[in-house]
Amino acid sequence: MTAFAFPPPPTPVVPVAGSGMLFPVRRILCVGRNYAAHRREMGGDERDPPFFFAKPGDAVVPGDGTVTFPSATDELHHEIELVLAIGGEGADLSPEAAAGVIFGCAVGVDLTRRDLQNHAKAKGQPWEAGKGFDGSAPISHIARGAPPPDAARIWLAVNGEVRQSGRIGDMIWSPAEILAQASTLWRLAPGDLIFTGTPEGVGSLARGDVVTGGVDGVGALAFTLSGAKG
Ligand code: MN
Repeated sequence: MTAFAFPPPPTPVVPVAGSGMLFPVRRILCVGRNYAAHRREMGGDERDPPFFFAKPGDAVVPGDGTVTFPSATDELHHEIELVLAIGGEGADLSPEAAAGVIFGCAVGVDLTRRDLQNHAKAKGQPWEAGKGFDGSAPISHIARGAPPPDAARIWLAVNGEVRQSGRIGDMIWSPAEILAQASTLWRLAPGDLIFTGTPEGVGSLARGDVVTGGVDGVGALAFTLSGAKG
C-alpha cells in the first residue's frame, strides 16, 4: 500500500456568494493588455492578438482583510480585473460554446511586481517572479452567472482615491472570445480562473495602503497591504 509522503497541500478555494459553497481552484490564466488604453500605456499595439500568462492556483487570497506585501519588489502594481470562474470543460471552443462553461464571475487584482516583470521583459525571461508570486491574486467571492453587461463599471481606488475606472465593454477581447482563444491552447476545466485584463491607470502600492475595487453587478473587494505605512 502506498501513501502520501506528507499531507497533500490544501486545495485553494474561493467562496461562492450567497451559498455555502466553495469553488476549488485548479489554475489561473491571465490575459495581458486587454483594454486599449492600458495597452497603450504599456507600449503595445491595439491589433495584437490576446496573450496569456499564468499564476499558480494557490496564488489566490481573500480580497478582504489583509494581503501580505510581497518580498523582493520596490514597485508593486495593482491591476483590477474581471475574473471568469470556469465550471465546464472543453478545448477548441467557439465563443458561443465558451460562454457556456462559465460558472460565475469575480473581481480580482492581478498584483504585479512591475520591476521584476520589466526586468524579465528586457532580458527575454519568463514572468513568474513578476506575476505568479505567493498571494498575487486577491479575489472577491464568486457571483454565479454570466459576465456583466458592457456598461458595467470596473474600478479600483487606493486610500479612497480612484486610480482605475473603465467599462467592461472597453475590453478588446470579450470574455467569450478570451475563453475561445484560451481553449485553443489549454483544455479548460472546472476550477480554472481567467483574469481578463485591466483598464488603464495601473500604479504603485505601498505597505499600509487600502485597496478597494469592484465590478458593477459582480462584487467588490477591500484589503489593506501588510506593513506600516511609509
Ligand atoms: Mn493583468
